[in-house]
Amino acid sequence: MSVVLKFGGSSITKDGFETILNEIENNKGKKIVIVLSAVYNVTNILISLMERKLNYTIQNLVDIHYKLIEEIGLKHSFIDSLIEELNKDLYKEKVNKPKILSYGELLSTIILYEYLKKNNISSSLIDGTELIRSSFSMKEIIDNSCKSQNFYCDDCIFNYVEKNEIVITQGFITKTKDNYIYTLTRGGSDTTASLIASKLNSERLEIWTDVNGVFDADPNVIKNSNIINNLDYELCQEMAGMGAKVLHPYCIRPCQMKNIPIYIKNTYDSNNNNTIISSEYNNKLSLMLDRGNKVFNITSLNMWNDYGFVADIFLKFKNYSIDINIITTSQYSVLATTKEEDEDKIMSLKEELSRHYDVSLFNCDLISIIGRDIIQNKKIPHLFEKLNNHDKIYITHFSSNNMCLTFAISNEISAY
Ligand code: ASP
Ligand code: MG
Repeated sequence: MSVVLKFGGSSITKDGFETILNEIENNKGKKIVIVLSAVYNVTNILISLMERKLNYTIQNLVDIHYKLIEEIGLKHSFIDSLIEELNKDLYKEKVNKPKILSYGELLSTIILYEYLKKNNISSSLIDGTELIRSSFSMKEIIDNSCKSQNFYCDDCIFNYVEKNEIVITQGFITKTKDNYIYTLTRGGSDTTASLIASKLNSERLEIWTDVNGVFDADPNVIKNSNIINNLDYELCQEMAGMGAKVLHPYCIRPCQMKNIPIYIKNTYDSNNNNTIISSEYNNKLSLMLDRGNKVFNITSLNMWNDYGFVADIFLKFKNYSIDINIITTSQYSVLATTKEEDEDKIMSLKEELSRHYDVSLFNCDLISIIGRDIIQNKKIPHLFEKLNNHDKIYITHFSSNNMCLTFAISNEISAY
């Protein structure tokens, strides 16, 4: 039997490495696959270096890793060749972005490998791009013609797990079918771990982080929020899509397909008040907040008693590759939200739409109430009453799966 343990950036510290030693001990007799993210903030630094922003230097990145290596009692020379390679790659005329991003995970995993060696634990460090492959080519990615996040774990994992008790690998990094390095979207190490657990039919997947689990509301916004101890896959998927930040949205499905439970665990708190995500049905309500959205309000009197408007409007979104999240319509209007950050794209689309419709655009936050049978839930009318006092609700939306009621409101969230 195998277990897959994924440690996020905030867990890659001296204390986090001690937790890894404990977990290796606790899982003795099982095959263990350890998936790591980059050290906390390192992917952000790599992006900033690539974009030639001046807020970080490569020395900042070196310092973060040297400090960790010193804290765990090792000498740092073993990462020097990787740093040199990164330096060269960064200053090439044509920067290979996914390759540069991969250095974060390459560094963290080699540090763990050396740490385990020093603690007399033998493990095998496997290149994550060998394990996680995509079914599309680089050309398809560049042409924007690959339509889904189609990644899978290669069969070679069986071989590695058969030969080794402990396998360490990088999250986040993959290879296309024509062998180019490609990364998952931000936070994608969870998905790497889930794909591996699913392939191996593991006993469980553990996601180690710096919180105890999934909360029923963002604890930074709502003081009396609580951990949800048992969450079913579907509700968790809905929450991940509507702003829960603990898990990468693509990480649930691979485990769900094999009915593998996902445990969220806190590297710095060993009490057992955690979240377990499984097929066990659950009807708790939770409140998700998703900031940084925009809402397009598109109206025209011509819409009434005529056809083709929705198709026409959405075709324009498609042509600008702008992802729509929430949609509502009336006889004369279509409202659509997006998280697109590229202001140029947004303004061009607005201009294009304005040729045919009246268009207004607002910044908004989405507040979603997530649970089973939302429409029938007795608490919902009470919530509507509370929100009535808010003068800038742009959209109220019931999701088609009856699991989510969303309000798009002006982002003066402090009004709550
Ligand atoms: N290092 C990557 C990121 O920061 C992937 C991950 O942490 O899961 O997004
Ligand atoms: Mg994460």
